[in-house]
Amino acid sequence: MGKPGSHTIIQVALPVPLRRTFDYLPKPDTPVNLLQPGTRVKVPFGKRQLIGIIHGVIPHSSYGDDNLKTITGLLDEEAAFGDELVTLCQWAANYYHHPLGDVYAHALPTLLRNKDDSWEEVSTRWRLTQKGRLIGFDQMKRAKRQIHALEILREHPDGLHQPLLKGFEVEPATLRALQDKGLVEQHADRPPRQHWWQEHMLAESPLTLNEEQRHALQPIIANQGFRPFLLEGVTGSGKTEVYLQAIHHCLQQGKQALVLVPEIGLTPQTLHRFQHRFAVPVVSFHSHLSDRERLTSWRKARNGEVAIVLGTRSALFCPMENLGMIIVDEEHDLSYKQQEGFRYNARDLAIIRARLLDIPVVLGSATPTLESLHNARSGRYEHLTLNRRAGKAMPPHFRVLDIRQKALTHGMAPELLTDMEARLKAGRQVLVFINRRGYAPVLMCHDCGWFKECPHCDHRMTCHANPAHLHCHHCNHQLAIPRYCGNCKSTDLRPIGMGTERLEDNLTALFPKFPVIRIDRDTTGRKEAMSRHLERIHSGEPCILVGTQMLAKGHHFPKVTLVAVCDIDAGLFAADFRATEHTAQLLMQVAGRSGRGADQGTVILQTHQPAHPLLQTLLSEGYGAFATELTNERRLLGMPPYGYLALLRAESSDPRQAAQFLNQIEHWLQPQAQALNVEVWGPAPALMPKKARRYRFQLMLRAEQRPALQQLLKQAVKKVEQDAGHRLKWSVDVDPVTLD
Ligand code: ADP
Ligand code: ZN
Ligand code: ZN
Repeated sequence: MGKPGSHTIIQVALPVPLRRTFDYLPKPDTPVNLLQPGTRVKVPFGKRQLIGIIHGVIPHSSYGDDNLKTITGLLDEEAAFGDELVTLCQWAANYYHHPLGDVYAHALPTLLRNKDDSWEEVSTRWRLTQKGRLIGFDQMKRAKRQIHALEILREHPDGLHQPLLKGFEVEPATLRALQDKGLVEQHADRPPRQHWWQEHMLAESPLTLNEEQRHALQPIIANQGFRPFLLEGVTGSGKTEVYLQAIHHCLQQGKQALVLVPEIGLTPQTLHRFQHRFAVPVVSFHSHLSDRERLTSWRKARNGEVAIVLGTRSALFCPMENLGMIIVDEEHDLSYKQQEGFRYNARDLAIIRARLLDIPVVLGSATPTLESLHNARSGRYEHLTLNRRAGKAMPPHFRVLDIRQKALTHGMAPELLTDMEARLKAGRQVLVFINRRGYAPVLMCHDCGWFKECPHCDHRMTCHANPAHLHCHHCNHQLAIPRYCGNCKSTDLRPIGMGTERLEDNLTALFPKFPVIRIDRDTTGRKEAMSRHLERIHSGEPCILVGTQMLAKGHHFPKVTLVAVCDIDAGLFAADFRATEHTAQLLMQVAGRSGRGADQGTVILQTHQPAHPLLQTLLSEGYGAFATELTNERRLLGMPPYGYLALLRAESSDPRQAAQFLNQIEHWLQPQAQALNVEVWGPAPALMPKKARRYRFQLMLRAEQRPALQQLLKQAVKKVEQDAGHRLKWSVDVDPVTLD
């Protein structure tokens, strides 16, 4: 095994906010073949010790080979990441203009980020050295504990693991003392790795595909290396069945599969569906796992012990021994985009990872983003469509309920209430959707109109009833319910408007014979709560489900035949240019919960804007036609997919500092921006100008071509990094999904 020569320099990526790597010397006795990119190392950095990742090995440092420090040590014998993930992290750091070390840190499970235990499952076995076997106890100077340890180990010639030794009352300190004398040595045992592959991979037989599904499946399994697919299939059209069969094909080639699902989409139901189908091991990654459980799943995926990884956003970085296919379900979902720190989009990085591995990648959705549709329509992705619901389910029937001038009971029109009652009496379930949790969006003084704003944000505080308090949904600040008005001291404070809690109360009063099940972030916080609610719904008893968008995604509730959307108007008039797209997606997704069983479903939409053109197109011609219209609007504005955006955000506790800073940056950027044909707008206050005590501003960069935007961003980030200093918090957001 070679030793590092005088010309072996390791480039280490460290979790520090600097956009560069750091050069170190290896320890002189380290075998060169262990210095693999993707391996964790511990290094001295200033006064601290940091955990970093070897990014590369080079012959000379541009900082001068003589000035380099030596690493403290390698943490693992095998690299945490393979070449493809090293390249992917580098790509992402460049594209999102984020420090490489932090990209790596994100890609690692938490336990590996800041602990220097090996990721490998090793147990330390202690055994005697030759000297230890021969030494006479009279030479041990009455070191009783050491003699005891030697006696025990002499009875166990193969050595003993640490916990067993503890059972014999041998302490680690004693063993270390013996080790220093050269009497005992450590041996690292690795449990054998059990490869996932087995002859019979299926635990149940697959469904017979209908013709549309067959047409969709065929090109995916045609083995042509890298190929992106957009599987556009209406809700309930059997996309998941297509994924399952595509994955089966992939497994038969001896390769693993990675399936990404939205944060809320990874319900026990989804996982069960995969586990029921396959006899080979499936693991999941989601927010309810402990760090330890995550590391175990990660290790198994990396070592090829599991066949399928099913996970949310960050699972994209899960190392896999031999990955053969990536699936991104509900590709339009906003949770694929990380909204702070390293603002990557897992859907977009899935395409890059698939390209690096030369494998197929499938983006699936009933309501694809305009970007993915554009890619499919322009031929960059292969467009597969499923237009009919699978099995016997029929598409839901839409009904727009004009509520102008209607007398509403708790925000619901009489027709809606009558319909609900009829369905409940017929033994069906009803889903009422409202995208606002809490009791009411405002608690207002009836005498003067005063209401409480969050002291740290530009936003009113939401009123919660159980437990009673005011809550800022933007910074989590909580206050007791005020007893009197902050302006006129009146005690007549009234909740105005409707949230899930209030709707739950009202519906319980209106339909006392039927249970009301509320599903939102407040009722499903604990691990088991969501499963318990879902179980109840799946029992099939007639009931009313009340919920936020958590209810809209991926669930299959065969007994639901009516979905009611109380108020869609807010979404049609929001300031964010993507709001209409998101509203339409949410509407179609929530509608997709209706009529998934044998009975046709109905969707009732209450609105004051029955003639809204986009709503009309969406309902009469479907999501595809709607998307075309919206895409044409975007073309005129030069907005994505006909243009590329990036935001430079800055925030400060001083109301002026961030704006002034971005102003300077804007002045500095303009000449280069003009040369590159990139527009720079702003600085403007963010949609939420003040959040968590900080004043927020942003510069928007827009270009017709991606390379020009990237080039300008590179210069901008370099300048900002130099000038911002420590006081100002700033970030870059490439391809933002919200302008907030
Ligand atoms: P999607 O993922 O598009 O929402 P699913 O894959 O969940 O749709 O399918 C919806 C329902 O239709 C499920 O109950 C599924 O078992 C059923 N289904 C899917 N494909 C078929 C098929 N080829 N034949 C019969 N039933 C099917
Ligand atoms: Zn707040
Ligand atoms: Zn008042």
